[in-house]
Amino acid sequence: MASSSRSCAATKCEIASCAMCHCCQTDLCLDHLKEHRDRLNEKLVPLTNQINTVLDRLKQITPTSLPNLLMLDQWRDAAHQTIDRFCQHMRNELFQQAKNKPLEKLHATRNILDQLIQKQGATRENIDILIKDIEQIEQEFNNLQKISINLRPLVIDKHAIIQSKASNKLQHESKKKKLSVDPLEQQNELEALQNGIAFQIFVQVTNIF
Ligand SMILES: [Zn+2]
Ligand SMILES: [Zn+2]
Repeated sequence: MASSSRSCAATKCEIASCAMCHCCQTDLCLDHLKEHRDRLNEKLVPLTNQINTVLDRLKQITPTSLPNLLMLDQWRDAAHQTIDRFCQHMRNELFQQAKNKPLEKLHATRNILDQLIQKQGATRENIDILIKDIEQIEQEFNNLQKISINLRPLVIDKHAIIQSKASNKLQHESKKKKLSVDPLEQQNELEALQNGIAFQIFVQVTNIF
């Protein structure tokens, strides 16, 4: 063995090195070079397994399996309830507004009529006014059927979600590869949501009648 040649770096190997492994800058004899390469290649198998495991776990994840996305369902339910309440409220209010005016007139006319009957003192003018008033009231009641409203489209876009505190936190958390959030904070948000204060849908009705 020439003194200038470098020996194999493997422990207890006294054979002169025949090559240098470029990946780790180590001088090795042929046998140890093969062994070294085999050992490196062996590490590929567990890596493949690891990737497969992650792939399997990813397949298990569905849109409904992520706990924070349940907020979306609760938001939807709260929004549905808000719309239901709004429609019911507006239907009653519009109906009352339309009905009350002719109804008040009808009662007033009825009072005048009752008084005239009681006094038995009707004049031709009284009768003409009464006939005219009743016709007018009838016309107003007929107009109830013609109530028309214009509704602006309800626009819900992605900003409703992205700009909310909860989803910002979601994005933030997912960057950290964490799905859990502070339980207390989450609880507060859920309560706010259930109480209908966290998300409110604003619907404006225009051109009533
Ligand atoms: Zn190497
Ligand atoms: Zn060797």
